[in-house]
Amino acid sequence: MTEEKKLEIVEKTAREWLKDRGVTIDDIAELVYFLQAKYHPELDLAECKENVERVLSKREVQNAILTGIQLDVLTEQGKLAQPLLDIIKRDEGLYGVDEIIALSIINVYGSIGFTNYGYIDKQKPGILEKLNDKSSGFCHTFLDDIVGAIAAAASSRLAHSLAYKE
Ligand code: MG
Repeated sequence: MTEEKKLEIVEKTAREWLKDRGVTIDDIAELVYFLQAKYHPELDLAECKENVERVLSKREVQNAILTGIQLDVLTEQGKLAQPLLDIIKRDEGLYGVDEIIALSIINVYGSIGFTNYGYIDKQKPGILEKLNDKSSGFCHTFLDDIVGAIAAAASSRLAHSLAYKE
């Protein structure tokens, strides 16, 4: 398989898995809007979406999506060994590896992403609230942090690009 073909498959799969797990580009764009609208009154959802698309085109981000979702799914299927299975299933606060994977996404666009990520992780608007609903029967221990991190990275990207324009 050529290197180019492999890249394509990674991106395509990462996007498919996000969708399969109930997360759309629009959902993430809405989080970006939530984070940035107060600073940029002219901002529209289309611009948020464009920035989410650019973040999703990064290989580091695709790798994080694949790894995180795979662990969530294997947890649902009971296919991980103990004690890891229960730790991820319970989304234990002291585990923290889900946040570390999220940081690999935020790092792509520099440090202002950290603030955005911390804020959105506390507020849990929109899709993040849904992903955190433990009564759904799904395990989104990794996915909630990944989605928050993609939104935070897209917000940083957007803020940088608007700062140039203004
Ligand atoms: Mg988590």
